[in-house]
Amino acid sequence: MKPSLSTLHRIAWMVFFTAVASTNTCFGQAAAVGTNPKPNNNNISVLLITGGCCHDYDFQSKSMQLAAKERGVPIDWTIVNEGGKGTKATIELYKNPKWFEGFDVVIHNECFADTDDPDYIRSITKPHFEGTNAVVIHCAMHTYRSAKTDDWREFLGVTSRRHDHQSRYPVTVAKIDHPIMKGFPADYKSAMDELYIIEKVWPNTTVLATSKSEKSNDEHAVFWTNQYGKGRVFGTTYGHSNETFSDKVFLETLVNGIKWAAGR
Ligand SMILES: [Zn+2]
Repeated sequence: MKPSLSTLHRIAWMVFFTAVASTNTCFGQAAAVGTNPKPNNNNISVLLITGGCCHDYDFQSKSMQLAAKERGVPIDWTIVNEGGKGTKATIELYKNPKWFEGFDVVIHNECFADTDDPDYIRSITKPHFEGTNAVVIHCAMHTYRSAKTDDWREFLGVTSRRHDHQSRYPVTVAKIDHPIMKGFPADYKSAMDELYIIEKVWPNTTVLATSKSEKSNDEHAVFWTNQYGKGRVFGTTYGHSNETFSDKVFLETLVNGIKWAAGR
């Protein structure tokens, strides 16, 4: 019997993921990060920090890498996937005072809602305030949620502490001319995903698109940019499910956001 198309598709992805795993720099320890990994090329140097509760971070990381590659965006990836699957952990990487050095963009896709040490959190936000650009995805908005200080939330550009149920949410674009939203379909609905309730949009945030709560009818930012000190931040609250990380429009917007954050 001939293999079905979906089988071939699965095999192609497995081959790609194996290739990605063997050719990219993935650090289990922080020791090698922060020593200026930028090679002598024009690629975007990205540090992806991921791990923690509630999501399939291996799939999401590989999906992002594949999406950039398919769109011809050259990225050198460094991936730190640490902290287990719980809601409270500290990542060794951040103990290195130069953890951010050499990266054009740091992607935060980590999810530790109960980690609340303000000094630890400031060791992450300070380099961003001083000019390290960032992309923040989904549970990054609820990580450090227990913290009494607002540093992380100001860095994100939004304050959120909870989410509505999973659904396919229509997305209304507010800034169609923004390079991140260029070509975004007018009739787009998200993949099955959670709608994060945004309590506060910080003053330096530009909302790029919103979705409406099916419970309250309130509009909530789902894609935005923020200026945090000298650092550019692109954020999205979507990104819960593997279905979202297989959605072409979501991935296109995410890749656009990485490029924008990198100043490309
Ligand atoms: Zn989620």
